[in-house]
Amino acid sequence: MSTTIAETPARLDLEEVTISYNGKTAVDHISIQIAHGDQVAIVGPNGAGKSTLFKALVGLLPVQHGKIFIHGQPLGHHQDCVAYIPQREEVDWRFPVTVSDVVMMGRYGKFGWLRQPDKTDKAIVLQSMEQMGIAALRTRPIGELSGGQQQRVFLARALAQEPHILLMDEPFTGVDVSTQETTLRLLSDLKSAGVTVLVSTHDLNMAASEFNQVLLLNRKMIAFGSPQEVFTSQNLKAAFSGQLLNLEGAVVVDQCCGNDEEHSH
Ligand code: ADP
Ligand code: MG
Repeated sequence: MSTTIAETPARLDLEEVTISYNGKTAVDHISIQIAHGDQVAIVGPNGAGKSTLFKALVGLLPVQHGKIFIHGQPLGHHQDCVAYIPQREEVDWRFPVTVSDVVMMGRYGKFGWLRQPDKTDKAIVLQSMEQMGIAALRTRPIGELSGGQQQRVFLARALAQEPHILLMDEPFTGVDVSTQETTLRLLSDLKSAGVTVLVSTHDLNMAASEFNQVLLLNRKMIAFGSPQEVFTSQNLKAAFSGQLLNLEGAVVVDQCCGNDEEHSH
């Protein structure tokens, strides 16, 4: 299948995007168009390629085949307008920096490494920390914080970047309820601000209730559309069949399909 860029460029277009590690394909010919201001949940089992896709969208991994367009331009033109919050396990939290240092990193794309942050940068950093409820922690090293607090630091860094597109890799995993609520509130603020958001999650209920689009992924695209269109039992089986007997898959399928007999053990 070959897609073309719409006349009014979508904010994010993927055309046949294929990404491999050492010849092993992790993301296989994904073609989707994500409109300006959409909020998309990316759902799929472990190893489905969610993190790989995010990394490619910020240029951290090369695309072997296919193309990524942002605002109708090839990836690279608008790199700084995409903010990325990595999965918690992928961050080295021992890195000796304070909370406000990390949040200021969100501004580097704007002022470069050689210029000092100015008043505007500092004001935006402070405002971002206040919005995420971490201003009181600003002089603390990030390694000392709880998982939820660390997540908020990364959310504040992403906000300070003033992105058009925000990618969050499993922001609801391994954090406390109040950080989950802060994250959901942020999603709703971003919606009002017209920021396009992609969030990977294992939580199908959350994907269905909080997002207007869902990408169901298992190396290949299983389905893309509204939660109603995507979350059919057939699609879920296609995505999760290999993992039905582990806890994650069982919980997911039980909740979503009411299919509780088969997986109650
Ligand atoms: P997800 O985030 O959906 O759990 P990933 O994108 O992390 O999935 O991984 C997709 C596939 O790519 C998996 O098979 C994984 O083992 C493989 N993979 C991920 N990172 C690397 C890497 N750095 N080197 C080699 N293979 C990798
Ligand atoms: Mg991942």
